Amino acid sequence: MTQVDYIIVGAGSAGCVLANRLSQDPRNHVLLLEAGGSDRSPAIQVPLGYGLTFSDPKYNWMYHTEPDPALAQRSAYWPRGKVLGGSSSINAMVYVRGQAGDFDDWRDAGNPGWGWDEVLPYFKKSEDHVWGASKHHGAGGEMRVSEFSKQVHPLCHTFIETGAALGWQKTEDFNGEHAEGVGLWQMNIRDGIRESTSNAFLRPAMKRANLRVQTHAQVTRVLFEGQRAIGVECLVDGSTQILKARKEVVLAGGAINSPQLLQLSGVGDGALLQGLGIPVRQHLAGVGQGLQDHLCVSYFFKSKVRTLNNDLYPLHGKLKAGIQYLLGRRGPLGMSVNQAGAFVRSRADLTRPNLHLYFNPISYSGDAIKPGRMRSPDPFPAFLISFNTCRPTSRGSVQIQSSNPLSKPLIRTNFLTTEQDLRDVFEGSQLLRRIAATRPLADVVACEHMPGPQVQTPEQVMQDFRQRAGSVYHASCTCAMGASPASAVVDARLRVHGVQGLRVIDASVFPFVTSGNTNAPTVMVAEKGADMVLQDHA
Ligand SMILES: Cc1cc2nc3c(=O)[nH]c(=O)nc-3n(C[C@H](O)[C@H](O)[C@H](O)COP(=O)(O)OP(=O)(O)OC[C@H]3O[C@@H](n4cnc5c(N)ncnc54)[C@H](O)[C@@H]3O)c2cc1C
Repeated sequence: MTQVDYIIVGAGSAGCVLANRLSQDPRNHVLLLEAGGSDRSPAIQVPLGYGLTFSDPKYNWMYHTEPDPALAQRSAYWPRGKVLGGSSSINAMVYVRGQAGDFDDWRDAGNPGWGWDEVLPYFKKSEDHVWGASKHHGAGGEMRVSEFSKQVHPLCHTFIETGAALGWQKTEDFNGEHAEGVGLWQMNIRDGIRESTSNAFLRPAMKRANLRVQTHAQVTRVLFEGQRAIGVECLVDGSTQILKARKEVVLAGGAINSPQLLQLSGVGDGALLQGLGIPVRQHLAGVGQGLQDHLCVSYFFKSKVRTLNNDLYPLHGKLKAGIQYLLGRRGPLGMSVNQAGAFVRSRADLTRPNLHLYFNPISYSGDAIKPGRMRSPDPFPAFLISFNTCRPTSRGSVQIQSSNPLSKPLIRTNFLTTEQDLRDVFEGSQLLRRIAATRPLADVVACEHMPGPQVQTPEQVMQDFRQRAGSVYHASCTCAMGASPASAVVDARLRVHGVQGLRVIDASVFPFVTSGNTNAPTVMVAEKGADMVLQDHA
């Protein structure tokens, strides 16, 4: 049996940050347990490799949601990273913190210390921004944030000019003074290599003698003495091990697996657990409830000019891109295809942007997701414009269906169950067409390829949305932070209500999903959470 000070479950976006910070003091002995394996594969390290890992069971939990009536009874595919770096090793690398108001909302929901002014220093702490230190950015931190204005596809600039023609402010920095407007995304990429949290935070810390990282180790249960968490039960390469923590167990398994693990450990809705024969350690009705995500639809436009499809569909194009990358770590393989976008308001009476737009100079309109297969661009020049609503109000759930830790939990998305969500989705869909019909982008549009001109009436637009919309993989809020154990799972110091020695620190503790992508806010939560752990044991 092993005994350490801290056990961290999951080496994902949050877990790698936690492992680094908690092991900075050589007196702390830290064990990081990760169900997946090594991230030393070109599919992970080469930025555009995420087309390969997107549906590769070697690196991916590959969840499927329950059929959702709002999405024409479709079950959606939800990739989640199962590898060192977690989802930061398979994501699209876009670095967006969210809107200042997102975090003020967290604070105002009963979570002191989580307002924008209080979380900004933690965003900056992690950061090694390519522009150096400023009021908004940090330099010298572990995680590189880069900009690609000289490398993005030229059509991105056409998209930005079109946004300006629609009256949107051009922004140089979505993470600076102007979070609203149209511009280019910053990315977690360092010198042409994916800047996962594994590369940024874990690898340097692995040199420390007081940090042990165990891969292929799936935690199956948290162990308790009375109400105190004292360790975990874990399957390591198929055999069960008991691992003990003197100070704390920290769950960082992500928005699907952290609530699953709590439920397997007897922390969750009492009636659910009893029904599955799991002894109830602590009744907490909120575990697995409150699931939020961003639901997105893409409109595809055939283009009169070359797009990345021309570069990446033909074999000779793929070879050229490969050589370009090998010679200088540049070109389309060295960055995300998600290159430009916008945060805008769909109605004049709104005080904050409610739509998140993406412009990709590539299209995958005919691409079905098949395990282990690279996503393939369309064989004709085309691009896509997508959107999701920033702050959806519908909420779903994650629930175990048996006491078997190896069986996948039920994910119910419950999308589009509020009037606000329906209205935002309709307005967003209309806006995509308005953009494509505005010059200069209109000049390069050959035709709308999908959904196509047959979709016209509001009913048809909504029906199309229900038939085609999908996740942008921002699952969160399933172990939400809040003061009341009646609805929340952790308190504002991320301690699980009703037990001791146990925290959750990952995207599941968000009280509301942030307005943008969720990796940067997860890293911030881990930075702040690590400080809280260390303060409480000082
Ligand atoms: C395909 C995709 C694209 C995305 N694109 C972007 C983007 O461009 N920008 C952005 O900001 N966000 C993006 N996201 C979202 C972002 O990556 C996630 O919100 C973030 O990584 C969540 O971090 P986490 O620490 O909560 O969970 P994860 O990073 O998923 O980490 C959880 C870790 O815990 C491990 N684990 C789980 N259960 C156990 C267990 N029982 N025992 C041991 N280990 C366990 C998992 O294997 C995993 O490594 C994307 C996500 C995906 C999937």
